[in-house]
Amino acid sequence: MTNAKTFADLMTAIPDLLAPSLARDWPHLPVERAEGVYLHLTDGRRVMDFTSGIAVMNVGHCHPRVVKAAQQQTAKMIHSAMGVTHADPVLRLAEALTAVLPPGMDTFFFSNSGSEAIEGALKLARYVTQRPGFIAFWGGFHGRTLAAAALTTSKGKYRRRYEPMLPGIYFADYPYCYRCPLGKTPDSCHLECMRSLDTLFERAIAPNEVAGIILEPIQGEGGFVAPPVEFLQRLRQICDEHGILLIFDEIQTGFGRTGQMFAAQTFGVQPDIMAIAKSIGSGFPLSAVVAGHELMSQWGAGSHSTTFGGNPVACAAGLAVLDIIRDENLLENSRRMGQKLLDGLKQLQQQHPIIGEVRGTGLMVGLELIEPDGNKTPNPQAVSRILNECLSRGLLLYSAGLHNNVIRIFPPLVVTEAQIDEALQILADSLGDR
Ligand code: PMP
Repeated sequence: MTNAKTFADLMTAIPDLLAPSLARDWPHLPVERAEGVYLHLTDGRRVMDFTSGIAVMNVGHCHPRVVKAAQQQTAKMIHSAMGVTHADPVLRLAEALTAVLPPGMDTFFFSNSGSEAIEGALKLARYVTQRPGFIAFWGGFHGRTLAAAALTTSKGKYRRRYEPMLPGIYFADYPYCYRCPLGKTPDSCHLECMRSLDTLFERAIAPNEVAGIILEPIQGEGGFVAPPVEFLQRLRQICDEHGILLIFDEIQTGFGRTGQMFAAQTFGVQPDIMAIAKSIGSGFPLSAVVAGHELMSQWGAGSHSTTFGGNPVACAAGLAVLDIIRDENLLENSRRMGQKLLDGLKQLQQQHPIIGEVRGTGLMVGLELIEPDGNKTPNPQAVSRILNECLSRGLLLYSAGLHNNVIRIFPPLVVTEAQIDEALQILADSLGDR
């Protein structure tokens, strides 16, 4: 099929070509090619992608080893309908993932997107426990398919006009310590927010009717909010007491983002089920529901399956991703560069009262912006202004948070010291006072 239109022509036709439900996003960059941390735009500009394609490109854009692995597999077999045929990279990836996941997480259901892995995790938990309910957390984001959206409360727009949602889902408080609704500070906190779980158990759903408690170990779209480790430990205990499955959505936190391969390891808390996606395939659509063999073996034959899940090209890319993370010491780089970024941002905070909080784990770093009014009033206008200023200086960042009041900084884990310095300089030049 030939088409005389240029890329620029097609860009102007976006409102006609793409559903407006997605076409109103920011900033619509026309990209010619991408490499490492850089996006090369059609007008010749080079932009540092400190969003990693929204946490997908942890090993950097178009890593040569990913490209080679995918090219080689493409020439051999592109599609294998799971179970009808099998392809070597799929099984090899399952083995390789087992070695880097938390202990005992060794059995996989491969699928294509994060939302799909969430759906699978919910179905597995219901199927195995034969219980109907789930507890999720305020501010969480788990995807846009109907069941995943039913777990999602990071913004109202993900749910509006989609009711009725999946029934049986209840929400508990997530420890957003910077904005603790109970007025606690780290010194005075005894995890009082966990009482909302007791309330649910007392008044809404009995614990023996709950199949799973599902959460992001660090909230992503909710604003890069990390809980105290004791919160996750306590959830583990509650699940053990009541036979509830603890489900970690590690779709955004996985593959080195938090300085260990998974946030479960960063916090030292073991889930029963994990949903992983995004950086697993370095841009090829791939995700997985993961659990220990004993749990997974109870998922009856034929009760959940897939046509495209575990695509061989995506799995070959996934194998390359794991090799790159190991060979290029990316977990250590995530920790080191994350610390450097945090230190630099904390210095900036001293000069800019609009920076309410700088927080981060590994290379998952957030900057919460407030009005300089002493009331921590969310400041989405500053976020939007600074994102545009940064982009005009060659740095792509992204917003998050209930009020779009947080700047997410999550570069590829291959980022260098010089690139972090450059990003900090751009931020310093872009921050301003309001
Ligand atoms: N869970 C989390 C924590 C996510 O960050 C995302 C994507 N932003 C999803 C689920 C949904 O993934 P997908 O867009 O691939 O369906």
